[in-house]
Parts: sequence; C-alpha cells; structure tokens
Amino acid sequence: MIDVLIIGAGPAGLSAAIYVQRAGKHAVCLEALTVGGQIVNTPEIANYPGIKKTSGFEFSMGLYEQATELGAEVVYEKAVNISKKDGDFVTTTESGKEFISSAVIIATGAKNRHLGLDKEEALTGRGVSYCATCDGAFFKGKDVAVNGGGNTALEDALFLTNYCNKVYIIHRRDEFRGEPQNLEAVRNKENVEFVLNSTIAELKGDKSLESVVVKDKNSGELREIFVQGLFIAIGQEPDNQGFESVVELDPSGYVAAGETCTTKTPGIFVAGDCRTKEVRQLTTAASDGAIAALAACTFISS
Ligand code: NAP
Repeated sequence: MIDVLIIGAGPAGLSAAIYVQRAGKHAVCLEALTVGGQIVNTPEIANYPGIKKTSGFEFSMGLYEQATELGAEVVYEKAVNISKKDGDFVTTTESGKEFISSAVIIATGAKNRHLGLDKEEALTGRGVSYCATCDGAFFKGKDVAVNGGGNTALEDALFLTNYCNKVYIIHRRDEFRGEPQNLEAVRNKENVEFVLNSTIAELKGDKSLESVVVKDKNSGELREIFVQGLFIAIGQEPDNQGFESVVELDPSGYVAAGETCTTKTPGIFVAGDCRTKEVRQLTTAASDGAIAALAACTFISS
C-alpha cells in the first residue's frame, strides 16, 4: 500500500515526491522513460531561481538523488489507467502491474509534438530527430535544419552551430516565442540561415533524410533545402488519455485543473506541464509538485 503514487518522475513528479517524503508519507513515482523528463535534454538552465547555471541532466540527477535519499522510490513502468477500489486508487501499468495508493498525483508532463508528415516516423533516427543534445554530434560538419520558433528551437540551433556546417531555422512566422537573448545569440552565428514564414511540406529521402521541401506561407513558393538532419522542436502535447475516466481533460488534452492542482476526483491531483496552465516552466512544475504533494498528504490525513 502506497500513500501517494506519482505518475511521472520529471521536475513536477520528483518535486512532489520530495514534499510527500518530507511530510512523513511514502511516495512512489512511476516513470515510463527517463528520470527528469524532457528537461534532461536541455543543455543549459539559467532561469531557475537560486541556481545560476546548470545542465538539464545535472538538475534532474539532483532532484532524483534528493527524492530517493528522502525515501521515495522510482519504478520504471508506464501508467495507463487509474480506477477507484474500496476508497483507494488502483493504477495499472502497460505491463499489467497494479499499484494501490491512497492518493495519486498525475505528473506526466508532455511529449514532443510531431509534424504529421509522410516519412516523419520512417526517417526518425535516420536524420529526423526531436533532441539536438542527444543526436547533434552525429551531424558534425553537415547541413541541418531546426523547425520551430520557441526556446527549444533556438537553443537547439545554437547548440548545433557548434558541430554543423550550416543550420537552417525554419519557422512558420517571422516572430519568435523564444527569449530575445536566445534569438540574439543565434543571430550572431555566421552559419545560421533563417527560413521564416515557412512550413515544411515534405521530407525527402529513403534510407535517410536528404532534403526538406519548405513552403513560403505568403508566396506559396516551394524551396528544397538539402540537409542531412532535421531537428523538430515545435513544442509538446500531453499524454493523458488513459486517465479520462477519473479526471476532466481540456480540449487540448491537458488535465483541467487550477493552481490548487485538484481534479474532479478527490484524492487525484495533477502537477506540472500536463495540466491546463499558462506558463509551463521548470519553476512552475516544481511549484505544482509542492502544492499537489501537500494537498495529497492533507487528503490522506483527513
Ligand atoms: P513552444 O514555446 O511551444 O514553441 C513551439 C514552437 O513551434 C512555436 O514557435 C510554434 O510556432 C511552433 N509550432 C507549433 N506547432 C507547430 C506546427 N504544427 N508546425 C510548425 N511549427 C509549429 O515550445 P518549446 O520551444 O519546446 O518550449 C516549451 C516551453 O519550455 C516554453 O515555455 C519554453 O519557454 C520552455 N523552455 C525554456 C527553456 C529555457 O528557459 N532555457 C528552454 C527550452 C524550453 P508559433 O510561435 O507560430 O506558435
């Protein structure tokens, strides 16, 4: 019997685990992939209050050690369903295991959004990637493209300029969501070309990526850009469908919840990027983790 089962061991889930353990309850985190979630691939974090500069990996490992040294457990299983049984919650995993707990915190984060193009799946790992820090080094001396206009795309592009011959930034608008400092840093690089107001219409290549065809949104003109790598950084989307029977999802699939992190089911809480919110940052994920954990502990004790 677990006090608080936390689904996800990213910044929100591990922050929740720290607060649950410090409140004298036992936390178990279920993690489908890697501890740390998406932040593990971020080369540099420079906006977390109190930490001037660190890497996503170092930050994640710090969170993991802090949570587990306090007694939290991480189990590598993908949760697919939550149901209620005799006042407790039963969380079922993809492999068929069941975890019974007094409260549940959903902290599933979000997964990389795909473009939905033909060949996108087939060429993933053959030139198409969603993680520049993981795969960038394979493209040393080559021409690559980054798609997107957020901080991830800008940071990916900046990172890739260190390895690659040329980096195209393909973005559907001419304004960027990413921070001005990131944009400025990319603009200062000589081996970057911006391809703006443009979307990717086609991926070409059979065994591996050979080129991308981009469409200018204003003129409708098509241009073929020859690149061996394409880093898709067009944001994230949630992965909460399995929990629809116990929580309400908003039209985009995020768990509908406010700053209290409570859901329509007493005893089930939600934290981090997987819930409806305006600002999805490390700081807000950690904040949600603390709020959800304390609410879960209060629920158990009441
Ligand atoms: P994001 O901020 O949501 O940006 C996604 C980008 O992809 C946007 O420019 C968007 O274009 C574009 N896009 C979305 N769907 C598209 C589609 N179907 N086709 C083409 N383009 C598409 O995502 P993110 O960059 O991954 O960042 C996520 C969050 O993490 C943000 O809050 C970001 O600030 C944060 N983050 C912070 C840091 C840091 O502080 N060091 C690093 C990375 C990420 P539009 O702009 O036209 O909508």
